[in-house]
Amino acid sequence: MDEARVARAVREILAAVGEDPDREGLAETPERVAEAYAHLFSGLREDPTRHLEGGFDKAARDLVLIRDVPVVSNCEHHLLPFTGKAHLAYLPNGRVAGFSELVRVVGGYARRPQLQERLTAQVADALYGALGSLGSIVVIEATHTCMTARIAETTGSVAVSVAARGVFEEDPARRAEVMALISRGV
Ligand SMILES: [Zn+2]
Repeated sequence: MDEARVARAVREILAAVGEDPDREGLAETPERVAEAYAHLFSGLREDPTRHLEGGFDKAARDLVLIRDVPVVSNCEHHLLPFTGKAHLAYLPNGRVAGFSELVRVVGGYARRPQLQERLTAQVADALYGALGSLGSIVVIEATHTCMTARIAETTGSVAVSVAARGVFEEDPARRAEVMALISRGV
């Protein structure tokens, strides 16, 4: 990432909103924002599916479900954070991924200018395609700062997005079983 360019742009934003970019409290803000962006958008320079390359276990055939994986991302419409939790489920077909790998996949897609719906779909596609599973379900629940910080009536609102692939897309009964586990707790 071109951090110097981001810092120049942030300085310009500060001036444009009517601030004095040179006053004491703001003097180092452009560089701090650039540093924060380098982290928040680091997913643009990685392919998160690389975390799913190993994990062979020929006997693995039973459902894997992980609840409450933290999600920290930024909406691409306002560049403001949305935060919440992801719940991941997949039906292995001879390959499994560790918990930390799954968390890294979520993080890799989250650290980009994002849409919650696309993030949900990308993680579901990774668990289905890259991991070669028989099916996946991803549910993300998140609070969007671009809503809650700007519109008082949206305080406390939570957006829920769902993506289902493979057997969970094709078989309503299997999908309902996993959704019940996700929504009720295990
Ligand atoms: Zn937004």
